[in-house]
Amino acid sequence: MTIDLHERVHLTHGYDEGSARPIIVCYVTNRCNLACTHCFLYRDGNPNERVSPRLEIPDDEMLEIIEALRDRHGTRVMVWMGGEPMLRRSLLERGVGLFDYNVVDTNGTIPLADLGPLTSFLVSVEGPPDVNDAIRGAGTFARVYRNLENLPDAFTSAINIQCTVTRSSQGRLGELVDLFLGTRANLVTFSFYVPAVDDTTGIGWETLEKRMVAVEEVRRLKIEHPAFVTNNLAALDLMAPEHAPSVAADCPFRSTVLPLFLDGRSFTTAHCTYGNDVDCSRCGTWIAYEFAAKPFAFPDYDA
Ligand code: SF4
Repeated sequence: MTIDLHERVHLTHGYDEGSARPIIVCYVTNRCNLACTHCFLYRDGNPNERVSPRLEIPDDEMLEIIEALRDRHGTRVMVWMGGEPMLRRSLLERGVGLFDYNVVDTNGTIPLADLGPLTSFLVSVEGPPDVNDAIRGAGTFARVYRNLENLPDAFTSAINIQCTVTRSSQGRLGELVDLFLGTRANLVTFSFYVPAVDDTTGIGWETLEKRMVAVEEVRRLKIEHPAFVTNNLAALDLMAPEHAPSVAADCPFRSTVLPLFLDGRSFTTAHCTYGNDVDCSRCGTWIAYEFAAKPFAFPDYDA
């Protein structure tokens, strides 16, 4: 089988064939076993809304497309996204061999596969059980916790808990850290809610000034647990109202990553991995600020 990249990958929003993209973020399925209230995947205007979530590119074809894109853009790191990527476990088991390093962004409710030491799982948890389950569904925190407890001793992939901080969780982050300290989780990373332009969820902050309560709480936890909390202090400094607009205006995440959304039997791009309708002026994704503080450079990108 020979893939025609022009036919199978539609670059939009300024992405071009000639640019180096050290990281690909790929939505390998639109299916998910949860229905989280703040998920942006099916929001109006994002690529996935137009197609059936069950219309997927078969494994062989998808891996061939991804390998060709890897070679065209010089990609070394793959972030496997969904939907829930563990619903395509066999694809991941084959796909991780294509890259120097892999991250699987999962809701953690499906038992994890050992994909080797060059893969880490980014397990989404929104806060302690009551905060998490209000967003992700009843009992989901316990399912994640049980899956981590049941990992075999020989499991080699790293586990990184990722918490999207909102107004409802900002006062409960210390509890989350305490719950995962001493478990199979190697790290906790705090990202901050990225609202849509017309966000009506009520879980974000109206202004960057108001968001600083949450940023300062993450700073406190980083100082208290420097080896367990991933966020670096220089990146948190850049989230201050006097710096954040200039990070968003020249977003280092957008210029580093090729985002691939499913569009029927093809891939398409969007403004960034958060879709088309995001309010960059209130962006809280941790990685944009991390790359602004320290530009991506393999292999120490998560130092
Ligand atoms: S939403 Fe955030 S990560 Fe995406 S382009 Fe805007 S500033 Fe960058």
